[in-house]
Amino acid sequence: MSDIGQLTEFDIIARYFADIDGAGHQPSVALGIGDDCAILSLAANQQLAFSIDTLVSGRHFPDDADPYQLGQRALAVAVSDLAAMGAKPLAFTLALTLPSVDSQWLDDFSRGLRLAAGQYKIPLIGGDTTQGPLTITLQVHGSLCSQAVLKRSAAQPGDAIFVTGTVGDAAAALAVIEGRLVVDQQQHEFLMQRFYQPTARIEVGQSLLGVANAAVDISDGLLADLAHIATASKLAAMINVDQLPLSAVMKQVIAKPQALAYALKGGDDYELCFTVARDNITQIKTLAQRLSLPITEVGIMAAGSGVSCVDDHGDDVVIDIAGYQHFTQSE
Ligand code: ADP
Ligand code: MG
Repeated sequence: MSDIGQLTEFDIIARYFADIDGAGHQPSVALGIGDDCAILSLAANQQLAFSIDTLVSGRHFPDDADPYQLGQRALAVAVSDLAAMGAKPLAFTLALTLPSVDSQWLDDFSRGLRLAAGQYKIPLIGGDTTQGPLTITLQVHGSLCSQAVLKRSAAQPGDAIFVTGTVGDAAAALAVIEGRLVVDQQQHEFLMQRFYQPTARIEVGQSLLGVANAAVDISDGLLADLAHIATASKLAAMINVDQLPLSAVMKQVIAKPQALAYALKGGDDYELCFTVARDNITQIKTLAQRLSLPITEVGIMAAGSGVSCVDDHGDDVVIDIAGYQHFTQSE
């Protein structure tokens, strides 16, 4: 596309996207925006990990979504896939389809994107700009040492299952956004931050290399994402629901059965779920202390298949509160 409205494609790139440099000089970027291709340099023992996500307006986010939050959230969600592999962020590309040139929208979107790019030290090195229904595609690139990868298929029987941070907050936030839950101002701020500014656990992911066996980021809900590990590893996963890490706000405003349903079935938290041999558990405790981040043991991998839930008494738990359809989920 050469011209949308009064600004050309090149004006848009120069004005809004050319300077998203991930907060400084990135030695792996040999060539950035402006040529036919961008070029990344990789050290001899490194592999390139990459992942792509498309967000379509009206499907993955509401048409009137705040563009600043959208920019932040879109990159955090994409970078979360690098975290789940233990990859180090290198650079990202952006394919943007716009219905028209809305300078205010572009300004806000690029500010949100720039903020997240600085946070994760990941520069924007290229992309494509076209006219059509609002669609945002982000491809993230990361580097991995070829010896160590956190594959979904690598869990072992007897591995302990851990999750970072707290789970269910994004589902509670969505209930607030959709008017199904009323909270006070402070609780509102906390939940909106958890939803619109999820933290990709990049540092955790890299620290797990050589320590954890399998990992996944929680985008579709703990049960669904842990099921990916169980299936790929040809094992069963058992969760103790009484050990699930719930935020203080969740405990304050939501009754336990609903809180557990959010924690197990709610998506969009972008925490990491991973499995660890029992011998390595002390390393996880040390990591949690070093990062000042709760990392909680929630279950165990065993022979068999599927994901099941028990409580502290060992009784089976069935979560029968229907999962909700989340609007912003990337499919
Ligand atoms: P080509 O015609 O070779 O595909 P383009 O004219 O599409 O190149 O883009 C020119 C330059 O601007 C390229 O380096 C491309 O990667 C970059 N670019 C285009 N759109 C974007 C965007 N939305 N964000 C970042 N870089 C972009
Ligand atoms: Mg192009």
